[in-house]
Order: sequence, then structure tokens, then C-alpha cells
Amino acid sequence: MRGLFFIDIPILFQHVIFMEIEKEIHDTKYIRELIEYWDAYVHAVINEIYVGVGISLGLSEATAYDLAKNRTTDLKKSGFFKSLFDKFKSLFPHKIQRFRPKKGMFGDGTPMSEKQWTIFNNSVKKYWQKHTGRVAEDIAVKGFLLGRETTNFNLKKKPYKNKSLYQVSFDQYDGEIPSTIMEAYKKYDFDKSEKNILNKSFSNIAMYVQETNTEIQDAIRKQIQLGLDNNKSAIKIASDLYWNVQKDEELVNKYTAETLRRNWHRISQTEIASVYEAGILAQHEAQAMESLRDQSKAKYFIRTGGTCKWCRSKQGTLVRLIPSSVVEDTKNESLRAMGIIDPNTDIAIWPGKNNVGLKENDWQICCPAHPYNVATFTPINIETEWYNAKTGEVETRQVKKKFIPQQVDYSYRSKDEKEYRKPKVMGENLVRFNGNIYEAVPASVADKKLDAWRKDPRLPIPIQMDSPQYRRIFEAAE
Ligand SMILES: [Zn+2]
Repeated sequence: MRGLFFIDIPILFQHVIFMEIEKEIHDTKYIRELIEYWDAYVHAVINEIYVGVGISLGLSEATAYDLAKNRTTDLKKSGFFKSLFDKFKSLFPHKIQRFRPKKGMFGDGTPMSEKQWTIFNNSVKKYWQKHTGRVAEDIAVKGFLLGRETTNFNLKKKPYKNKSLYQVSFDQYDGEIPSTIMEAYKKYDFDKSEKNILNKSFSNIAMYVQETNTEIQDAIRKQIQLGLDNNKSAIKIASDLYWNVQKDEELVNKYTAETLRRNWHRISQTEIASVYEAGILAQHEAQAMESLRDQSKAKYFIRTGGTCKWCRSKQGTLVRLIPSSVVEDTKNESLRAMGIIDPNTDIAIWPGKNNVGLKENDWQICCPAHPYNVATFTPINIETEWYNAKTGEVETRQVKKKFIPQQVDYSYRSKDEKEYRKPKVMGENLVRFNGNIYEAVPASVADKKLDAWRKDPRLPIPIQMDSPQYRRIFEAAE
């Protein structure tokens, strides 16, 4: 029997290695709300399954619900789900039914047979699929469309960060933002690469939903068998199921409802960020394909947002979109390595680029780059726009009109931009000037440093000490 307890660590828990990463909060309201809804919805479904198991173990309905509500500090106040679901009821009609396995499902205190477990697992699976399948598709479609809208808002310079999900649905979709892939295809003009990218994002999300179902079945089985083996009472088993945190046995912690819900929280935020970014990039993929032949069509983005240390150090990074179909090695983001020479950046991004399975040292520039990540790619026209590090946004260059109105003088810069472009000391022998980072190097290593920089343009640009350039940049730096 022991062998049956053994479970491979599934993909779900690969996220755990990132657990120390701080949570980041999205600064765009409609995305925040989408995360809030999906997180709470699945949370409620998990709760319902555990309540049903508790009742089947012999608890009264009131005790089972009470047990599910208590003990956590954050959001288990009575009525929490109800008020949240009420808030979103015009957007999400999904209803959660009761989960009630047959009474006495867990026998009379004797270990359950393999057949009994199969029956139980199938009932969880059926309930789970019924309640999470359509919602996952709804979330994928809405997340993708919201990414698309964000690009439009950006293009039209419309303030959008405080718009609610309801407002976007009302303003852009006459109150009926699509909830299925077919509906989205029918109503909106998706090109082929957009369809591909949406489909891929959805299967990714569906995979995480499926993994969570497997986790739930394994967790319940593990705790119930453990409880029966140790002659625990029904209420003790149910309480362990929900909250058991055995200090000495880390592995057991992951088999509680509480752990499953925490994991789900991480998945919902990270996967929504991922489909949202796909929606931002997808509509430009066709142009990115053309740019492989015609450099003037190159589509650039700036990585903005994200509040952790890693993200802050990457804010303002200029990247170029390429179609995912031309990426051979997903662990190498150098344009040069792909045979694309770009005078403005060497960093490629593509829809679906991610850091799953990579250690922090090896993370590439993508969004999301880590669990709970809220950084995003903002499109930039490098001729007419610039990244303002002070506001963290891509802004239009302020143009000074001359007397002949057709002529635009791009050389004019706002006070903020001028300030940003002044030489500024960033660290020992490091100066930022004109948007680039320069490193002062002694003559003896100058050639070597220059070679390294040519291979990897992300490195600081080496400047030989005491050269005229050195004096201009380093001696003027503040
Ligand atoms: Zn971050």
C-alpha cells in the first residue's frame, strides 16, 4: 500500500523554488480584478470540495463550512465569496454547486480499497472539470483581449490604468466581453498568429488547472489514509485536511487545502499575466515577421513595471519582438545569435517567452519573468518616443515646432529627458550618459573589454581612462 502514497512532484511545484520572490501588485485595475476573480473562484471550488469531503467523513454541514472558514487570517470572513461574486456578476455568470460525495464514502474507519478511491477521485474530477473548464477558457479569452485593449489604449494615449473590468467591457464591448474562444473569433478580427498564440496560452492555462485537480485528489487521499491509519476521528481528519501544518514534515504541508489555495493564488496571478502579455504581443507578430526582411519595420518594446529588485534593474530595457516560429533556442535571447543584427538592441522577445525552470541568475527578459510578476512590455516608437525613468513610462518626445509647420525638430528634449541624458555616476567606474551605461577601464584591459562588449552589447560600454571620451563622460558626471 505504501507505494500508492508516492507522488511525483508535478510541474505545479516547480514554482515553489521561486517562493522567496516578493509578490507584486498589478497597477492596471482591470487585470487586477481578473486575477482577483479567478483566484477567489477557484479558491471557492477547492473549499467546496473539502467541505464535501468533511461532510462525507461524518461532519455536520455547519461544522464543515466552519472548519473551512476559520484559521486563516486573510479572507475567510463569512460572505467573502458572495460579495466578490456579486461585484462581478454581470461579467461572470459562473455558479458553484455543492460537492457532496456519497455518505459513508470513506468507509467505517478501515482503509479504503483501490476501487473506492477510484470512485471518489472520479467524482472530484468530474466536479472539478465542470466548474473550472469553462471558467479557465473565459479567463484566457478575457486576459488576452485585455492585453489587446491595453495596446490600443497605449496607442491612443488614453489613460486606462484605473479602468475597471466592467468599464472596459462596457466601453469596448457593449457590456459583452467574450467568454469563449469561438465568440472572440467570431466577433473580432484575429489574424492567424493571434489565434495561434491565444490557443497556446489557453492550453497552458488548462494544464495548470488540470495539475491542480491532480494535486487535490492526491492531497485528500494522502491525508485521509494517514488519518485512518492512525485511528483519528472524522473531525480531526477533516481539520488536518484543511489546515494540518506539521512542523517537522515539510512534505505533508503541501497536502492541505490551505497549501493548494496558496499555490493557486500564485498560479492565477502568474498565468493571467502570461496570457495578458501574449495579447499585447500577438497583434504585432506579423509585423515582426516582416521586419526580418525589412529592418525599418522592427517592433520595439520597453520592459516597464515590476517592483522586485530584479525587475527594477530591468526597467527601461529596450527589446525587439520576433516571431516565436524563428526561435530555435528558447534559452538564448540574443538577436545576434539568431543572425539578426539590430543597431538598437540585442535582446529578442517573442510570444510565450518565459523563465520556467530557470534559476534567477539565468532569467531572461520576459513578462512575466517570475511568479507574481506584473512587469509588462510597453510598445515604443524609438523615433518619436522615449522611456522616462522617472515616471517609468514610455512618453512622446516633446517636439518644438518651427515656423514651417511640416518640419519637426526631434532634437528638442524636455527638461526631464535632458536631465536623464546628463552623465550620472551609477557606481564605481560606471556612468550613465545619453541612455547608455559606460565603464571606465584601464588601457591594459581596454581591448579585451571592447571584445566582450561587442559579443554582448548588454554589458556597459568600455571607455579607456584618460581618453577624450573619458574626460567628456566621466569627468562631467555628477
Ligand atoms: Zn519582479
